[in-house]
Amino acid sequence: MPPHNKRPALVSPAGNMDKLRFAVHYGADAVYFGGKDFNLRAGTDNFSMEDIARAVDFCVQSRVEAIFLLNAFIHENDLALVKEYLSEIKRIPFRAVMISDPGMLVLVREAGITTPVHLSTQMSTLNHYAIRFWKEAGISRIVLAREVTLEEITRIREKVDAELEVFVHGALCISYSGRCLLSRYFTGRDANRGECTHPCRWKYAIVEENREGNHLDIIEHAHGTEILSSKDLCLIRLLPEYATAGIDAFKIEGRMKSVYYTANTTRVYAEALSLIANPEVFALRLPFWQRELALVSHRPYTEDLFNEFEGMKGKKSIPTIKGARFLGYYIDKGGDETEIYMKVHNPFSVGETIEAIYPLKGKSVRDRTYRVCEIRHNGTIIPTAQSGHAYLVRFDAPVHEYAIFRESTDTIATVVQP
Ligand code: SF4
Repeated sequence: MPPHNKRPALVSPAGNMDKLRFAVHYGADAVYFGGKDFNLRAGTDNFSMEDIARAVDFCVQSRVEAIFLLNAFIHENDLALVKEYLSEIKRIPFRAVMISDPGMLVLVREAGITTPVHLSTQMSTLNHYAIRFWKEAGISRIVLAREVTLEEITRIREKVDAELEVFVHGALCISYSGRCLLSRYFTGRDANRGECTHPCRWKYAIVEENREGNHLDIIEHAHGTEILSSKDLCLIRLLPEYATAGIDAFKIEGRMKSVYYTANTTRVYAEALSLIANPEVFALRLPFWQRELALVSHRPYTEDLFNEFEGMKGKKSIPTIKGARFLGYYIDKGGDETEIYMKVHNPFSVGETIEAIYPLKGKSVRDRTYRVCEIRHNGTIIPTAQSGHAYLVRFDAPVHEYAIFRESTDTIATVVQP
Protein backbone atom coordinates (compact mmCIF):
# COMPACT_ATOMS: atom_id res chain seq x y z
CA MET A 1 0.00 0.00 0.00
CA PRO A 2 1.23 3.59 -0.63
CA PRO A 3 2.50 5.47 2.47
CA HIS A 4 -0.27 7.01 4.49
CA ASN A 5 0.55 10.68 5.08
CA LYS A 6 -2.85 12.26 5.72
CA ARG A 7 -3.42 13.82 9.14
CA PRO A 8 -6.10 11.74 10.83
CA ALA A 9 -9.45 13.41 11.48
CA LEU A 10 -10.85 13.86 14.99
CA VAL A 11 -14.37 12.47 15.44
CA SER A 12 -16.16 13.71 18.57
CA PRO A 13 -19.35 12.57 20.33
CA ALA A 14 -22.43 14.81 20.16
CA GLY A 15 -25.10 13.57 22.56
CA ASN A 16 -27.26 16.67 22.05
CA MET A 17 -27.20 20.02 20.26
CA ASP A 18 -25.15 21.79 22.98
CA LYS A 19 -22.53 19.04 22.99
CA LEU A 20 -22.39 19.21 19.21
CA ARG A 21 -21.80 22.98 19.24
CA PHE A 22 -19.08 22.71 21.87
CA ALA A 23 -17.38 19.79 20.07
CA VAL A 24 -17.25 21.91 16.92
CA HIS A 25 -15.93 25.02 18.71
CA TYR A 26 -13.33 22.99 20.62
CA GLY A 27 -11.82 21.54 17.45
CA ALA A 28 -13.63 18.44 16.12
CA ASP A 29 -13.25 17.61 12.41
CA ALA A 30 -16.37 15.47 12.55
CA VAL A 31 -19.15 14.77 15.03
CA TYR A 32 -21.34 11.69 15.41
CA PHE A 33 -24.89 11.70 16.71
CA GLY A 34 -28.12 9.77 16.46
CA GLY A 35 -31.81 10.41 16.16
CA LYS A 36 -34.49 9.07 18.46
CA ASP A 37 -34.31 5.57 16.95
CA PHE A 38 -31.96 2.86 15.74
CA ASN A 39 -28.69 3.99 17.26
CA LEU A 40 -26.78 2.57 20.22
CA ARG A 41 -27.49 5.32 22.73
CA ALA A 42 -31.22 5.33 23.13
CA GLY A 43 -30.78 6.90 26.61
CA THR A 44 -29.17 10.17 25.50
CA ASP A 45 -31.31 13.20 24.75
CA ASN A 46 -31.01 12.31 21.09
CA PHE A 47 -31.92 14.58 18.20
CA SER A 48 -35.46 15.06 16.92
CA MET A 49 -35.98 15.37 13.15
CA GLU A 50 -35.85 19.16 13.49
CA ASP A 51 -32.66 18.99 15.58
CA ILE A 52 -31.05 16.67 13.05
CA ALA A 53 -31.66 19.14 10.23
CA ARG A 54 -30.35 22.05 12.39
CA ALA A 55 -27.30 20.06 13.48
CA VAL A 56 -26.36 19.12 9.92
CA ASP A 57 -26.85 22.72 8.80
CA PHE A 58 -24.58 23.94 11.59
CA CYS A 59 -21.95 21.32 10.66
CA VAL A 60 -22.06 22.30 6.99
CA GLN A 61 -21.56 25.99 7.89
CA SER A 62 -18.74 25.10 10.28
CA ARG A 63 -17.10 22.75 7.75
CA VAL A 64 -17.34 19.86 10.13
CA GLU A 65 -18.51 16.43 8.99
CA ALA A 66 -21.82 15.14 10.36
CA ILE A 67 -21.87 11.37 10.84
CA PHE A 68 -25.34 10.00 11.58
CA LEU A 69 -25.74 6.82 13.60
CA LEU A 70 -27.94 3.97 12.43
CA ASN A 71 -25.93 1.35 14.29
CA ALA A 72 -28.54 -0.59 16.25
CA PHE A 73 -29.09 -4.25 15.46
CA ILE A 74 -32.43 -4.72 13.79
CA HIS A 75 -35.00 -7.40 14.56
CA GLU A 76 -37.33 -8.68 11.87
CA ASN A 77 -40.20 -6.95 13.65
CA ASP A 78 -38.44 -3.55 13.39
CA LEU A 79 -38.18 -3.53 9.61
CA ALA A 80 -41.28 -1.51 8.80
CA LEU A 81 -40.27 1.17 11.32
CA VAL A 82 -36.71 1.27 9.99
CA LYS A 83 -37.97 1.77 6.44
CA GLU A 84 -40.24 4.60 7.54
CA TYR A 85 -37.40 6.22 9.52
CA LEU A 86 -34.99 5.99 6.58
CA SER A 87 -37.51 7.61 4.27
CA GLU A 88 -37.72 10.53 6.75
CA ILE A 89 -33.96 11.13 6.97
CA LYS A 90 -33.27 10.36 3.34
CA ARG A 91 -32.88 13.95 2.17
CA ILE A 92 -30.67 15.20 5.01
CA PRO A 93 -27.14 15.80 3.68
CA PHE A 94 -25.08 13.82 6.23
CA ARG A 95 -21.41 13.37 5.41
CA ALA A 96 -21.83 9.69 6.28
CA VAL A 97 -24.11 7.27 8.11
CA MET A 98 -22.82 4.56 10.45
CA ILE A 99 -24.23 1.05 10.61
CA SER A 100 -23.52 -2.20 12.46
CA ASP A 101 -26.15 -4.56 11.08
CA PRO A 102 -25.47 -5.59 7.44
CA GLY A 103 -29.24 -5.51 6.94
CA MET A 104 -29.17 -1.78 7.66
CA LEU A 105 -26.67 -1.31 4.82
CA VAL A 106 -29.10 -2.97 2.42
CA LEU A 107 -32.02 -0.94 3.79
CA VAL A 108 -30.06 2.33 3.55
CA ARG A 109 -29.28 1.67 -0.11
CA GLU A 110 -32.83 0.49 -0.86
CA ALA A 111 -34.11 3.74 0.66
CA GLY A 112 -32.04 5.63 -1.96
CA ILE A 113 -29.53 7.03 0.57
CA THR A 114 -26.29 7.35 -1.38
CA THR A 115 -24.12 8.91 1.32
CA PRO A 116 -20.91 7.02 2.38
CA VAL A 117 -21.52 4.31 4.98
CA HIS A 118 -19.19 3.72 7.93
CA LEU A 119 -19.08 0.43 9.84
CA SER A 120 -19.32 0.57 13.64
CA THR A 121 -16.75 -0.96 15.99
CA GLN A 122 -19.69 -3.12 17.07
CA MET A 123 -18.96 -5.44 14.13
CA SER A 124 -15.60 -6.44 15.73
CA THR A 125 -13.49 -5.98 12.60
CA LEU A 126 -10.09 -7.45 13.48
CA ASN A 127 -8.32 -8.43 10.25
CA HIS A 128 -7.74 -7.32 6.66
CA TYR A 129 -9.94 -10.04 5.15
CA ALA A 130 -12.90 -8.69 7.09
CA ILE A 131 -12.04 -5.20 5.88
CA ARG A 132 -11.86 -6.40 2.28
CA PHE A 133 -15.25 -8.04 2.73
CA TRP A 134 -16.85 -4.86 4.05
CA LYS A 135 -15.20 -2.69 1.42
CA GLU A 136 -16.56 -4.91 -1.34
CA ALA A 137 -19.98 -4.67 0.32
CA GLY A 138 -19.86 -0.89 -0.09
CA ILE A 139 -18.54 0.34 3.28
CA SER A 140 -16.22 3.32 2.95
CA ARG A 141 -14.80 3.52 6.49
CA ILE A 142 -14.35 0.81 9.09
CA VAL A 143 -14.13 1.56 12.81
CA LEU A 144 -11.86 -1.24 13.97
CA ALA A 145 -12.62 -3.39 17.00
CA ARG A 146 -11.17 -1.94 20.17
CA GLU A 147 -9.27 -5.20 20.65
CA VAL A 148 -7.00 -4.61 17.62
CA THR A 149 -3.40 -3.87 18.64
CA LEU A 150 -1.17 -1.18 17.19
CA GLU A 151 1.06 -3.84 15.66
CA GLU A 152 -1.98 -5.47 14.01
CA ILE A 153 -3.10 -2.10 12.60
CA THR A 154 0.30 -1.67 10.94
CA ARG A 155 -0.04 -5.09 9.34
CA ILE A 156 -3.65 -4.48 8.30
CA ARG A 157 -2.67 -1.16 6.71
CA GLU A 158 -0.06 -2.93 4.56
CA LYS A 159 -2.83 -5.06 3.09
CA VAL A 160 -5.78 -2.70 2.56
CA ASP A 161 -6.42 0.87 1.47
CA ALA A 162 -9.85 1.27 3.12
CA GLU A 163 -10.41 4.20 5.50
CA LEU A 164 -9.75 3.02 9.05
CA GLU A 165 -10.94 4.62 12.29
CA VAL A 166 -10.11 3.72 15.91
CA PHE A 167 -11.35 4.86 19.28
CA VAL A 168 -8.65 6.81 21.13
CA HIS A 169 -10.51 7.80 24.27
CA GLY A 170 -13.42 6.82 26.46
CA ALA A 171 -15.22 3.97 28.16
CA LEU A 172 -14.64 0.34 27.23
CA CYS A 173 -16.92 -2.67 27.48
CA ILE A 174 -16.23 -6.00 29.17
CA SER A 175 -17.39 -7.83 26.08
CA TYR A 176 -16.12 -8.08 22.54
CA SER A 177 -16.84 -4.66 21.02
CA GLY A 178 -19.78 -4.14 23.32
CA ARG A 179 -21.87 -7.10 22.17
CA CYS A 180 -23.11 -7.96 25.60
CA LEU A 181 -26.28 -9.21 27.26
CA LEU A 182 -25.66 -8.08 30.85
CA SER A 183 -27.99 -5.12 30.67
CA ARG A 184 -30.74 -7.17 29.05
CA TYR A 185 -30.26 -9.88 31.67
CA PHE A 186 -30.51 -7.51 34.64
CA THR A 187 -33.00 -4.93 33.41
CA GLY A 188 -34.52 -6.11 30.15
CA ARG A 189 -32.83 -3.19 28.42
CA ASP A 190 -30.74 -4.37 25.48
CA ALA A 191 -27.27 -2.83 24.92
CA ASN A 192 -27.42 -3.95 21.31
CA ARG A 193 -30.47 -1.81 20.76
CA GLY A 194 -29.04 1.29 22.41
CA GLU A 195 -30.46 0.80 25.88
CA CYS A 196 -27.46 -0.30 27.97
CA THR A 197 -27.86 0.46 31.69
CA HIS A 198 -24.11 -0.22 32.30
CA PRO A 199 -24.49 -3.04 34.85
CA CYS A 200 -20.80 -3.84 34.33
CA ARG A 201 -20.10 -0.66 36.30
CA TRP A 202 -22.55 -1.19 39.15
CA LYS A 203 -21.33 -2.04 42.59
CA TYR A 204 -21.63 -5.74 43.49
CA ALA A 205 -21.43 -7.79 46.65
CA ILE A 206 -21.45 -11.51 47.43
CA VAL A 207 -24.44 -12.90 49.31
CA GLU A 208 -24.26 -16.34 50.94
CA GLU A 209 -27.27 -18.46 49.92
CA ASN A 210 -28.76 -18.75 53.41
CA ARG A 211 -28.05 -15.19 54.58
CA GLU A 212 -30.27 -13.04 52.44
CA GLY A 213 -29.50 -9.35 52.81
CA ASN A 214 -26.03 -9.98 54.27
CA HIS A 215 -23.85 -8.45 51.61
CA LEU A 216 -20.13 -9.18 51.59
CA ASP A 217 -17.81 -6.95 49.68
CA ILE A 218 -15.42 -8.76 47.41
CA ILE A 219 -12.62 -6.21 47.72
CA GLU A 220 -12.88 -3.42 50.28
CA HIS A 221 -11.98 0.10 49.22
CA ALA A 222 -13.37 3.57 49.61
CA HIS A 223 -15.51 3.43 46.47
CA GLY A 224 -17.12 0.00 46.92
CA THR A 225 -16.65 -2.96 44.61
CA GLU A 226 -17.17 -3.33 40.93
CA ILE A 227 -16.25 -6.84 39.94
CA LEU A 228 -16.76 -6.42 36.22
CA SER A 229 -15.50 -2.88 35.77
CA SER A 230 -13.39 -1.98 32.82
CA LYS A 231 -10.94 0.88 32.59
CA ASP A 232 -11.26 3.80 30.16
CA LEU A 233 -9.20 4.07 27.00
CA CYS A 234 -6.69 6.93 26.65
CA LEU A 235 -4.30 6.80 23.70
CA ILE A 236 -3.05 10.40 23.82
CA ARG A 237 0.59 9.34 24.32
CA LEU A 238 0.43 6.91 21.38
CA LEU A 239 -1.32 9.14 18.82
CA PRO A 240 1.78 9.58 16.62
CA GLU A 241 2.26 5.81 16.49
CA TYR A 242 -1.37 5.23 15.55
CA ALA A 243 -1.12 7.89 12.85
CA THR A 244 2.05 6.28 11.49
CA ALA A 245 0.28 2.91 11.48
CA GLY A 246 -2.15 4.40 8.97
CA ILE A 247 -5.30 5.37 10.86
CA ASP A 248 -7.56 7.89 9.08
CA ALA A 249 -9.75 8.96 11.96
CA PHE A 250 -9.53 9.02 15.75
CA LYS A 251 -12.76 8.78 17.65
CA ILE A 252 -13.67 9.89 21.17
CA GLU A 253 -16.32 7.82 22.97
CA GLY A 254 -18.94 9.43 25.19
CA ARG A 255 -22.23 10.75 23.79
CA MET A 256 -23.76 10.36 27.24
CA LYS A 257 -21.04 12.37 28.99
CA SER A 258 -21.15 16.09 29.74
CA VAL A 259 -20.58 19.17 27.60
CA TYR A 260 -17.37 19.64 29.62
CA TYR A 261 -16.13 16.12 28.81
CA THR A 262 -16.96 16.54 25.10
CA ALA A 263 -15.27 19.93 24.85
CA ASN A 264 -12.16 19.21 26.86
CA THR A 265 -11.35 15.81 25.35
CA THR A 266 -11.95 17.31 21.91
CA ARG A 267 -9.63 20.27 22.48
CA VAL A 268 -6.89 18.01 23.87
CA TYR A 269 -6.98 15.52 21.00
CA ALA A 270 -7.42 18.29 18.40
CA GLU A 271 -4.28 20.03 19.59
CA ALA A 272 -2.38 16.76 19.83
CA LEU A 273 -3.36 15.92 16.25
CA SER A 274 -2.19 19.33 15.04
CA LEU A 275 1.27 18.61 16.55
CA ILE A 276 1.52 14.99 15.50
CA ALA A 277 4.25 15.67 12.96
CA ASN A 278 6.32 17.66 15.46
CA PRO A 279 7.63 15.15 18.05
CA GLU A 280 9.47 17.68 20.22
CA VAL A 281 6.52 20.01 20.70
CA PHE A 282 4.22 16.99 21.06
CA ALA A 283 6.36 15.71 23.95
CA LEU A 284 6.41 19.17 25.55
CA ARG A 285 2.61 19.47 25.44
CA LEU A 286 1.87 15.90 26.53
CA PRO A 287 1.87 16.66 30.30
CA PHE A 288 -0.72 19.43 29.78
CA TRP A 289 -2.97 17.09 27.77
CA GLN A 290 -2.63 14.31 30.32
CA ARG A 291 -3.49 16.70 33.14
CA GLU A 292 -6.59 17.92 31.27
CA LEU A 293 -7.71 14.35 30.52
CA ALA A 294 -7.23 13.55 34.21
CA LEU A 295 -9.65 16.39 34.98
CA VAL A 296 -12.61 14.90 33.11
CA SER A 297 -14.69 12.20 34.78
CA HIS A 298 -13.15 8.82 33.97
CA ARG A 299 -12.21 5.44 35.29
CA PRO A 300 -8.48 4.69 35.54
CA TYR A 301 -7.01 4.94 32.09
CA THR A 302 -5.52 2.16 30.02
CA GLU A 303 -3.77 2.05 26.68
CA ASP A 304 -4.68 -1.60 26.00
CA LEU A 305 -7.35 -3.20 28.16
CA PHE A 306 -7.55 -6.35 26.03
CA ASN A 307 -3.97 -7.31 26.81
CA GLU A 308 -4.16 -6.20 30.43
CA PHE A 309 -6.52 -8.93 31.59
CA GLU A 310 -3.76 -11.45 32.18
CA GLY A 311 -1.97 -9.09 34.52
CA MET A 312 -5.06 -8.14 36.52
CA LYS A 313 -4.97 -11.25 38.71
CA GLY A 314 -8.34 -10.57 40.26
CA LYS A 315 -7.77 -6.90 41.06
CA LYS A 316 -10.78 -5.68 39.18
CA SER A 317 -12.00 -3.03 41.56
CA ILE A 318 -11.96 0.23 39.64
CA PRO A 319 -13.32 3.54 41.00
CA THR A 320 -14.55 6.36 38.82
CA ILE A 321 -12.35 9.44 39.13
CA LYS A 322 -14.37 12.62 39.00
CA GLY A 323 -11.51 14.94 38.02
CA ALA A 324 -12.89 18.44 38.21
CA ARG A 325 -16.45 19.38 39.14
CA PHE A 326 -18.26 20.62 36.03
CA LEU A 327 -20.14 23.80 37.00
CA GLY A 328 -21.70 25.06 33.78
CA TYR A 329 -21.21 26.57 30.37
CA TYR A 330 -21.69 29.70 28.29
CA ILE A 331 -24.99 29.97 26.44
CA ASP A 332 -25.07 33.69 25.49
CA LYS A 333 -23.50 37.04 26.23
CA GLY A 334 -25.00 39.34 28.87
CA GLY A 335 -25.13 43.12 29.31
CA ASP A 336 -21.38 43.73 29.16
CA GLU A 337 -18.24 41.68 28.62
CA THR A 338 -18.07 40.48 32.25
CA GLU A 339 -21.58 39.04 32.16
CA ILE A 340 -22.92 35.89 30.48
CA TYR A 341 -25.95 33.65 30.46
CA MET A 342 -24.84 30.33 31.78
CA LYS A 343 -26.40 26.86 31.94
CA VAL A 344 -25.54 25.50 35.37
CA HIS A 345 -24.62 21.86 35.90
CA ASN A 346 -23.51 21.93 39.58
CA PRO A 347 -24.22 24.63 42.20
CA PHE A 348 -21.82 27.52 42.93
CA SER A 349 -22.20 30.77 44.88
CA VAL A 350 -21.32 34.45 44.77
CA GLY A 351 -17.77 35.06 46.06
CA GLU A 352 -16.42 31.67 44.89
CA THR A 353 -13.41 31.43 42.63
CA ILE A 354 -13.99 29.10 39.71
CA GLU A 355 -11.98 28.14 36.64
CA ALA A 356 -12.94 28.59 32.99
CA ILE A 357 -11.55 26.62 30.08
CA TYR A 358 -11.73 27.86 26.49
CA PRO A 359 -11.17 26.54 22.98
CA LEU A 360 -7.46 26.76 22.19
CA LYS A 361 -6.65 29.76 20.01
CA GLY A 362 -3.50 29.08 18.05
CA LYS A 363 -0.90 28.18 20.66
CA SER A 364 -2.43 30.05 23.55
CA VAL A 365 -4.33 28.53 26.44
CA ARG A 366 -6.83 31.13 27.66
CA ASP A 367 -8.01 29.16 30.69
CA ARG A 368 -8.15 31.30 33.82
CA THR A 369 -9.89 31.69 37.14
CA TYR A 370 -12.74 34.13 37.87
CA ARG A 371 -14.48 35.34 40.97
CA VAL A 372 -18.27 35.10 40.83
CA CYS A 373 -19.57 38.65 41.52
CA GLU A 374 -23.33 38.36 40.98
CA ILE A 375 -25.94 35.75 40.05
CA ARG A 376 -29.37 36.75 38.72
CA HIS A 377 -32.40 34.61 38.00
CA ASN A 378 -35.28 36.27 36.11
CA GLY A 379 -33.92 39.68 37.20
CA THR A 380 -33.63 38.79 40.91
CA ILE A 381 -30.20 38.70 42.59
CA ILE A 382 -29.65 35.34 44.32
CA PRO A 383 -26.70 33.90 46.31
CA THR A 384 -26.37 30.46 44.70
CA ALA A 385 -26.86 29.05 41.22
CA GLN A 386 -28.55 25.64 41.22
CA SER A 387 -28.01 22.82 38.74
CA GLY A 388 -30.30 22.49 35.75
CA HIS A 389 -31.15 26.19 35.40
CA ALA A 390 -29.86 29.11 33.33
CA TYR A 391 -28.62 32.29 35.07
CA LEU A 392 -27.14 35.67 34.25
CA VAL A 393 -23.74 35.60 35.97
CA ARG A 394 -21.28 38.49 36.41
CA PHE A 395 -17.58 37.86 36.96
CA ASP A 396 -14.59 40.02 37.93
CA ALA A 397 -13.13 39.99 34.40
CA PRO A 398 -14.28 39.66 30.76
CA VAL A 399 -15.67 36.24 29.85
CA HIS A 400 -15.53 34.90 26.30
CA GLU A 401 -17.78 32.76 24.15
CA TYR A 402 -17.82 29.02 24.78
CA ALA A 403 -16.35 29.24 28.27
CA ILE A 404 -16.85 26.11 30.37
CA PHE A 405 -16.59 26.44 34.12
CA ARG A 406 -15.18 23.90 36.55
CA GLU A 407 -13.87 23.54 40.06
CA SER A 408 -11.01 21.17 40.85
CA THR A 409 -11.77 18.51 43.42
CA ASP A 410 -9.34 16.96 45.88
CA THR A 411 -9.58 13.66 44.06
CA ILE A 412 -6.20 12.44 43.01
CA ALA A 413 -6.09 12.54 39.24
CA THR A 414 -4.79 9.56 37.33
CA VAL A 415 -2.41 10.21 34.47
CA VAL A 416 -1.59 7.52 31.91
CA GLN A 417 1.84 6.19 32.69
CA PRO A 418 4.11 5.54 29.74
S1 SF4 B 1 -23.11 -3.67 30.37
FE1 SF4 B 1 -21.02 -2.85 30.26
S2 SF4 B 1 -19.95 -4.32 28.90
FE2 SF4 B 1 -22.13 -4.63 28.58
S3 SF4 B 1 -22.64 -3.32 26.80
FE3 SF4 B 1 -23.11 -2.14 28.68
S4 SF4 B 1 -21.20 -0.93 29.04
FE4 SF4 B 1 -20.68 -2.60 27.61
